[in-house]
Amino acid sequence: MTTVAIADQLKALIELQKLDGEIYRLRRDLATQPVQAAQLKDEQAKRTLGLQTAEARTKSLELKRNQLEAELGSKEQQIKKLQTQTYQVKTNREYSALQLEVEGLKADKSVFEEEILKLMEEVEQAKAQTVSEKEQLKVQEGELKSRLDQIDQESRKIKNAIEQLQAARAALVPKVDPKVLKQYERILERKEGSALVPVRGNSCSGCNMLLPPQAINEVMMNTRLIPCESCARILYIEPEAGS
Ligand SMILES: [Zn+2]
Repeated sequence: MTTVAIADQLKALIELQKLDGEIYRLRRDLATQPVQAAQLKDEQAKRTLGLQTAEARTKSLELKRNQLEAELGSKEQQIKKLQTQTYQVKTNREYSALQLEVEGLKADKSVFEEEILKLMEEVEQAKAQTVSEKEQLKVQEGELKSRLDQIDQESRKIKNAIEQLQAARAALVPKVDPKVLKQYERILERKEGSALVPVRGNSCSGCNMLLPPQAINEVMMNTRLIPCESCARILYIEPEAGS
C-alpha cells in the first residue's frame, strides 16, 4: 500500500516538476524582458544626447562666428575711419602713424578672417553631424518601437504560457499528499524551480554529488521519499524508456 502510494506520488511529482521547471524557466525569461527594454531605452537616450550635443556645438560655433564677424566689421569701420583721416593729416609723421595703425588693424582683420573661415568649416561639420545624428535617431526610434512591441508581445506570450502551466499544475496537485507537496514546494522555492531530480550514474543530478549506495537502494525501494544529503532535492530513479 505504502509502496504503491509513494510510487504514485512520485509519478505525480515528476509531472509536477516538469511543469514547475518550465514555469520557473518562463518566469526567468519574463524577468529579463524589462531589462532588455531598459537597455534599449538607454541606448535611445544616449543617441538623443548625441544629437543634443551636436546641436549645442553648432549653436555655440555659430555664436562665436557671429561675434567674430561683428568684431571684423568694427575693425573694417576703424580702418575706413583712419583711411579718411589720412587725407586730412598735415605732417608725414602723422601720416606714418596713421598708416601704421591701419596696417595693424589690417593684420588683426586678416586674423579674424582666417578664424571665421575656420569656424565656418567647423559649423558645417557640426551641422552635418547634427543631420547624421538626427537620421540615426529616427532609424533607431523606429527600431526601438518595434523592439519594444516585440518585448511586449513576448511578455504576454510568456504570461499566457505560465497561466496554462499553472492550470495544468492545479489539476495535478490533488494527486500529491499535502505534506509531500509542502516539502516539495519548499525545496522548489529554495532551489529555484528544481526540487525533484533523477539519480544519474550514482550521483544526484541536481548537485552532482556522489550518492551513498544505501541512499540509492532506498530510492529504488520507493518506500519513502529520499532527499539528497547534500542539496536536499528529492531523488528518484528515472523510469526505463518505454515503461
Ligand atoms: Zn543533490
